[in-house]
Amino acid sequence: MLKLIAKFRHSARRLFWLWLLLCAPVVAYSAEPQPVALRHVRRVVLDPGHGGTNAGSIGIAGIAEKVLTLDYANAIAAWLRTHSTAEVLLTRQTDTDVGLRDRPRLANQWQADLLISIHANSHELPQASGMEVFFLAADAVAQANRQLVEREEGGGPRDGVGAIPWSVSGIVTDLGAVAAHSRAEVFALQLASALQKIRKDARFRGVKQAPFGVLKEAKMPAVVLEVGYISHPLESKDLLDKKTPALFAQAILAGMVALDTRIDLESKQESGAGPLQGERSHTSANPRRHKANRNSGNRNNH
Ligand SMILES: [Zn+2]
Repeated sequence: MLKLIAKFRHSARRLFWLWLLLCAPVVAYSAEPQPVALRHVRRVVLDPGHGGTNAGSIGIAGIAEKVLTLDYANAIAAWLRTHSTAEVLLTRQTDTDVGLRDRPRLANQWQADLLISIHANSHELPQASGMEVFFLAADAVAQANRQLVEREEGGGPRDGVGAIPWSVSGIVTDLGAVAAHSRAEVFALQLASALQKIRKDARFRGVKQAPFGVLKEAKMPAVVLEVGYISHPLESKDLLDKKTPALFAQAILAGMVALDTRIDLESKQESGAGPLQGERSHTSANPRRHKANRNSGNRNNH
């Protein structure tokens, strides 16, 4: 009898291990992280900088910025589509010219909740390196970044962007633009904070403000993301690594979550939750605000 029980126990144990083995793929599959559900940031437009006759910066080994930005936009879009509920659209899918003003106009037309213009930098000094995040300048600090704006917007169809002087008053009188600007800051700071954590070895040059044409016309929060210097021997190598765009995508998603939380709290505040919650919301949506500010270099009165 005892022998029988021992035999039964032995078989039961074997059966258990067999069951576990068969179930393992199912368990592993169900352990896959669910896409991050976003209530307000439903549509994101990625804008691969330059394209067509406008190559942008030229880096080491002749790598053109327009090629890198399109590769990044495609890879980031694919990652975000898998890891979040947001719909992701691109302002260009191929190596074509897209006017500077057409980029934000497309995002406006598609009623996007967020616009990210992707760029790569270059410098005659090979040691220049680092990522940067820009959102629209609403003050004179922008002057310091005009040189970069001119370089970024120097080639390709200008679409009349230089003909119309940009005015601060044109922005602050539009309440929708004020909200978009403040949300862009929330997104930019969270993106910057996440980038510094996810890409620890990469230099971060700061969150800055500049009057980029692509940011001026956007009716939604919009940023310019400079992924790094393709003129830097090591950084360009890292930027060309197939795994790198996904790291940027992770940081972008962190920013999208912060933006989503911010909009959620704003809408609750509007529906009568009171100003106190609004105050709390600002900090909770953006817990690393002060750290990001310290790293921001050229930023000022925000
Ligand atoms: Zn560029």
